[in-house]
Amino acid sequence: MLVNETETLTIKDVLSAFPIHPKSSGKKLILRTYEFSRKAHEGQKRASGIPYIQHCLATAKVLATIGMDARTVSAGLLHDVPEDTEITIAEIEKKFGEDIAFMIEGITKLGKMKLKIDAQEAKLENWRRMFLAMGKDIRTVVIKLADRLHNMHTLKHLRPEKQRRIANETMEIFVPIANRLGISKIKVELSELCFMYLKPDDYKKTKELRDRLVCESEEYIETTVKLFKKQLKDSNIEVIDIYGRVKELYSLYNKLEKYNGNINRIYDILAFRIIVKNEVMCYRVFGEIHKNYKPMVRRIKDYIALPKPNGYKSIHTIVFGPNGRRIEIQIRTQEMHFEAEHGIASHWLYKEKTKGSWRQYLSHKKQEKEDEKQVEWAKKLKDWQKDLGNNPDEFIEGLQVDFLKNHIFAFTPKGDIIELAEGSSIIDFAYAIHTEMGNTVTGARVDGTMASLDSTITNGSVIEILTDKNRKGPNIDWLKFVKTSHAKNAIRKYIKNSEQLLS
Ligand code: MN
Repeated sequence: MLVNETETLTIKDVLSAFPIHPKSSGKKLILRTYEFSRKAHEGQKRASGIPYIQHCLATAKVLATIGMDARTVSAGLLHDVPEDTEITIAEIEKKFGEDIAFMIEGITKLGKMKLKIDAQEAKLENWRRMFLAMGKDIRTVVIKLADRLHNMHTLKHLRPEKQRRIANETMEIFVPIANRLGISKIKVELSELCFMYLKPDDYKKTKELRDRLVCESEEYIETTVKLFKKQLKDSNIEVIDIYGRVKELYSLYNKLEKYNGNINRIYDILAFRIIVKNEVMCYRVFGEIHKNYKPMVRRIKDYIALPKPNGYKSIHTIVFGPNGRRIEIQIRTQEMHFEAEHGIASHWLYKEKTKGSWRQYLSHKKQEKEDEKQVEWAKKLKDWQKDLGNNPDEFIEGLQVDFLKNHIFAFTPKGDIIELAEGSSIIDFAYAIHTEMGNTVTGARVDGTMASLDSTITNGSVIEILTDKNRKGPNIDWLKFVKTSHAKNAIRKYIKNSEQLLS
């Protein structure tokens, strides 16, 4: 658990939560912001009766734990100062600089946002605002998630109708954001807490079931881990860690709902994680597991070669394990493991080049590559905003498809991966490569066979776009079947421009 609401925190707990020790300048900053926040909130109490500063410390500790940098942690300590005290953002800027003031301004704005979740339209408007805040500085949203996590942990001190409202809002807005940013530790904890408040009966039933499964599986997990260790060792495969676990509470509930409560249809109730040094080792383990245990058909997923849209990497396979029991095996490197739990937050961690026990752990990670990734993220967010412009309808339409729905991957003949929304057409693919290619596309060969412009792309296909330089431009009818907002906007823009030329 990232938050333990019964423990009284000190600033030392925050400092020792960092996976890599912060530099002395970072440490000084944290101590200064802590003192400032403590004085500002002096005398204020939470609904539970504990001093307000405990909430700030808890938020900061979550941020430190998931790998955010010292400045973000400091902003976490200060996040409620302008909202709840006389101190202004201008004063914070004078004392702690522009960067921290900017994050806190974002948090304060997000806090004042009226998040409505009843009407579909209002819900999407929330997304829009959240998304704009995120595009300016993604750290703001990560602070908001940490803040919300502590609030959810202390929800029992509020009135029941307020509990429901906040839990509902969290489930609708913050859980999907945590998921999209790949911060699975926060996602799992938030969704479980929401589940408890929103469906107390189902929660209780599922929890009892899970507790029983945990108890019953204990011995099997222990012997299986031993067996895997031995088998891999005999094949000269060096393993860093192996452990088994029962499926998380809320995802267990969702799977049970999907299969009408039939637990025998859930094959990944027990999952074993095998953590190794590098990618090559992942594939060696994968081979070794399949040599010893028969895999289930169509249940092999290589998210290393084809990562999920949120960056998740691992190899998953479901096999008939020891005693013929169906189990899931997840194979990943340490680095993939850390990223799987902390998502976007881990990108800040890599930027801290301080010595520490984690240095070795992360040393093979290339700094430049991380920076590239960060730039890619920022660029993507900027593009989205630019594309979606000021028309909220188009923005919402784009958000639903680009941000919330599932993605597929297709390849260019050279093997470049193009990521698209599910249901995308040849036209979407062409525009994803280049606007000019979209404007002049006349046809395509999909896996070597000619395909029409409106055909839907399936995951993993190789697509060769055919163009004609003499083509006048996109056809307005394309708007009927294109899926991505990027393609839609490019088509609209082209048509608008050519209309202006005519008039
Ligand atoms: Mn707060």
